[in-house]
Amino acid sequence: MIKILFLDQSGQPAGAELCLLDIAKAYRDQCLVGLFADGLFRQLLEENQIPVQVLATQAIAVHKGSGWLQGLSSLRQLLPLAIRVAQLSHHYDVIYANTQKAMVIGTLASILSRRPLVYHLHDILSADHFSSTNRWLAVTLANHYASLVITVSQATQAAFIAAGGRPELSEVVYNGFDPQVYHCDRTQVDTLKQQLGLTGRFVIGHFSRLSPWKGQHILLEALESCSEEVTVLLVGDALFGEQEYVQSLQTQVIERGLQNRVQFLGFRSDIVPLMHVCDLITHTSIAPEPFGRVIVEAMLCGRPVIATQAGGALELSNAGIPYWLVPPGNPTDLAIAINQCQAEWAQVSAIAQQAQLEVSRRFHIDTIRQQIAQLLHRFEPVIDASKTRSTKPVSAS
Ligand code: UDP
Repeated sequence: MIKILFLDQSGQPAGAELCLLDIAKAYRDQCLVGLFADGLFRQLLEENQIPVQVLATQAIAVHKGSGWLQGLSSLRQLLPLAIRVAQLSHHYDVIYANTQKAMVIGTLASILSRRPLVYHLHDILSADHFSSTNRWLAVTLANHYASLVITVSQATQAAFIAAGGRPELSEVVYNGFDPQVYHCDRTQVDTLKQQLGLTGRFVIGHFSRLSPWKGQHILLEALESCSEEVTVLLVGDALFGEQEYVQSLQTQVIERGLQNRVQFLGFRSDIVPLMHVCDLITHTSIAPEPFGRVIVEAMLCGRPVIATQAGGALELSNAGIPYWLVPPGNPTDLAIAINQCQAEWAQVSAIAQQAQLEVSRRFHIDTIRQQIAQLLHRFEPVIDASKTRSTKPVSAS
């Protein structure tokens, strides 16, 4: 069976890391996950018996908006890491880069060790998210050195190709989920609802890291046009240093007098019971979402979802999965959709149940693992039959 060296730059479990966790579970006996930072993600991998090593002691000083100079000055930091990864990769059949910095290191290691390189692209390579230098770098490395680029949606694939990526390299594989995980015991939900002081409230959940492009501020603005019984739960933290945004959200809550109607829960690992506590889940990204795991997770929990009409979210709806879409960055339309859902509750619940069935089937983790296995099959070592033949002399009878 194929041996994989997964690489990921983050110690924090955002969507790309949780997707990797689900894929790596199927390879736990023959893989290693190399991380460039320590954190909760390492713990999650260990809890799931997936071999993991933290390969860098210092955060790599380049970010999505970095230009050439910053990139070049980080070479002193990148080279020793690439050499270490190259040495490790001799024990594996393929290097599997799960993030952009992992792709840079993976490329250097792939050149040094002559191992094939796979790039799992979880981002939309557009100006909304990346500097032109970083877009150029991602596409150029992929075009010249990757044997396969797995994109998490058609939107991600289209952006890769629009940025100059070779179409024949890329394959779309959606994130996979185990529907069983999203069931929850009613008593647990009631207890949690009580603990959070939400009994009798109409609860809207927002499950995303706190970041300007995730648009939590749009939901808070919409909340002002919703009835008094509506409460918002903001679940997630600023994983990548967006502390100023957190501060601005807290100020927004105070200035608009929403203190009793908004709760900041920070990063939580009990996403499933929390989603069940919610009556409605909103997804408010103001830039196209590459995939949007939370949308599918909310549906798996049987919750009605309102999402913004862009990127991966749009693909779910185009595939016939029923839910509500609103234009990105528009609090008025969001408030109208929330009020409508609240008013037509019976109908909304029935639609949410239909969506639950659809996503359980379409995004089942077994199907997604099969797709990945088929794509990686080409990298499996060819077993030379002559070398495995028995060397025992055949005795004449
Ligand atoms: N998530 C979590 N705890 C939180 C907030 C979010 O575990 O407090 C998870 C969420 O359930 C989802 C992932 O983080 O699986 C976010 O993935 P998504 O694709 O929605 O966004 P990304 O982080 O990739 O931008």
